[in-house]
Amino acid sequence: MKYRPEKLVIEREVAESPLVKRILATSPGIPVDWVDRVQEDTVSENGTVLEIVRFRGRFVKPCPGTRSYNCCGYQILNFGIQCNLGCTYCILQAYFPNSNLRLFANTNEMMQELEEHLLNSPKPVHRIGTGEFTDSLLLDPWTGMSEVLVPFFARQSKAVLELKTKTTNVDLLESLEHGGHTIVAWSLNPPQVIAEEESGAAPLEARLEAAQRCQEWGYRVAFHFDPLLAYPGWQQGYQEVVDRLFSAVDPGGIAWISLGTLRFMPSLKAVIQQRYPNTSILDEEFIPGLDGKLRYFRDLRVEMYAYLNELLLGIHKNLCVYLCMESDDVWRQAFGFTPAERGGLSAMLDRRALS
Ligand code: SF4
Repeated sequence: MKYRPEKLVIEREVAESPLVKRILATSPGIPVDWVDRVQEDTVSENGTVLEIVRFRGRFVKPCPGTRSYNCCGYQILNFGIQCNLGCTYCILQAYFPNSNLRLFANTNEMMQELEEHLLNSPKPVHRIGTGEFTDSLLLDPWTGMSEVLVPFFARQSKAVLELKTKTTNVDLLESLEHGGHTIVAWSLNPPQVIAEEESGAAPLEARLEAAQRCQEWGYRVAFHFDPLLAYPGWQQGYQEVVDRLFSAVDPGGIAWISLGTLRFMPSLKAVIQQRYPNTSILDEEFIPGLDGKLRYFRDLRVEMYAYLNELLLGIHKNLCVYLCMESDDVWRQAFGFTPAERGGLSAMLDRRALS
């Protein structure tokens, strides 16, 4: 499963950048529009257009968590935006109404900012991910971004990179010097959910095979059961995923596993209804959380988290399982402890990051 754009739109200013040169070399025959500046109101064409621009904002940002919930203290490295894997619940549909994929070609400036950030930040450990505003590996066969990032992080004593994906685009990782500082992560869902709600992404089996390959190359891996979806028979569905997961990967090489039930800004609801009229993900009842997002009722969230946690820890009791954006009450009810009792969620994950 490799993404191939049907058209490139490239700003002239970045024509000589290594990223543009590489993409042009790996995309023979794809028509190119050279422009002075990509306009924000460009007509979007369902992810078939790849825009390559000079990014003028900040590349490194804190993950947009809220103080009302336990936030993991993650940081985002932003090398591009959008994704065309077509998950019905994807939050990017609300963030970026334009569906064109966009890459930032001023990679040198990005790496310089990242280096300065790591040098000047007082944080003891940095967990940095590229999978917040796009899929970390969707475009990797074209961009070779992993060849820039993975060796860079291998040289950092207090930072790890997390590449989050729903693809199998791991080939470039095989030969890279990672030094244990890159974690490759997949989000997981039952095959039925993948078929109905993540139709452009890799099947479960393929994701797990890719994870297995990464483990063979010495990478630690991570998994995100996010979004967990409540559908009739979800218990059996997630039991099957957990069974398949541990028949494919070594639990000792898993950095962490997160759980998060479906949640979304109210404005996303109309977009989902319009784009995916047949989806059933909106059938449950939702309540607004303290962050304004709609989420399942607390009892259902606790039931799902406790169920998954028991399944996972039943396989390997030393797994680091955490909840994404949940309150102390939910942690206590689902897991029997709060992050504060273990030094805080950020510290829990920092310990795993460098272990
Ligand atoms: S893989 Fe992630 S970023 Fe891409 S469509 Fe699905 S949820 Fe959105």
